[in-house]
Amino acid sequence: MAKWELRDYDREFFAKHLDSFVPREIFDAHAHLYELSHWGRPTALDQGPDPATLDVFREQIEWITPGRQTSGLFFGVGFHAGSDESNDFVEREVAKDKTCFAHYLTPPTMDPEALREQVRRRNMAGLKVYHSFITGKPSWTADIGEFLVEEHVRIAHEERLTVTLHMVKDRAMAETANQERIVHFCRKYPGMKLILAHAARGFNPYHTIEGIGALKGLRNVWCDTSAVTEAGAFEAIVDTLGLDRLVWGSDYPVSHMRGRCVAIGDTFVWFYEDSVDWKALAGHAKVEPLLIGLESLRALKLAAMRLRLTDSQVESVFRDNALRMLER
Ligand SMILES: [Zn+2]
Repeated sequence: MAKWELRDYDREFFAKHLDSFVPREIFDAHAHLYELSHWGRPTALDQGPDPATLDVFREQIEWITPGRQTSGLFFGVGFHAGSDESNDFVEREVAKDKTCFAHYLTPPTMDPEALREQVRRRNMAGLKVYHSFITGKPSWTADIGEFLVEEHVRIAHEERLTVTLHMVKDRAMAETANQERIVHFCRKYPGMKLILAHAARGFNPYHTIEGIGALKGLRNVWCDTSAVTEAGAFEAIVDTLGLDRLVWGSDYPVSHMRGRCVAIGDTFVWFYEDSVDWKALAGHAKVEPLLIGLESLRALKLAAMRLRLTDSQVESVFRDNALRMLER
């Protein structure tokens, strides 16, 4: 199991490639706070801190954005029955800092009025839905409507909530069913603000490049950059939806794992430090896999360069877009 650590070459990489790019004040629009027990199963994160409180997050985020002042939008983990323990934890942590926001882990089976009551009582900014709440069948091909149910979208519309959605199906944004569902929800419920996680799940950027045009003109859709390590999807989002639609996110703790996600054929593969025999794969070079959060920042920098973004536009992606999105 890979060690949970910051290495000299991570520090050198940031200093050389990212220090002049990342603004001083940033807002992380996609990060998780948790106790390890909330995952409900052993994970690679068992090597990391427990609990991952807001204070711990702020210490840890220094690994990928050293010296920056960071606020954020946080949610729990463990998208299964019993998720309210995780919600309780995030609620307590986020209550400590008025510059931070929380999303409520929302099982699709929840009574809509109970959801409204929970979100109000806990002072949460929105909902975090996830396909693994679906039980009894594989959920990687689920329709959006199965794990973000329309009655919850209605509540989000009425309460002006943000909703973080990690869509699934093989081709993600390029799937007609996903496009139609997002357009339907956003048009019918304009008060709901939809955040498409992972650059509209553009781990294979071609999927987002191919499909994002279906959302052109919608004013209640944003995309976060979390854990995406290629630039193409970021460029397509800015090009097609506009600069104000892209928000930086670390996906902490995923940001602190080591490796990279790459497009291959019509899908994508995660390479982690300890899941690949790097010597056998790359005899010509010593491979030193970076923290995923650093890889993602480099991809965002590449997109910003190709799009010729100004410093103030980069600042928007790192903070202002998210703050405007969260206004109620
Ligand atoms: Zn996440």
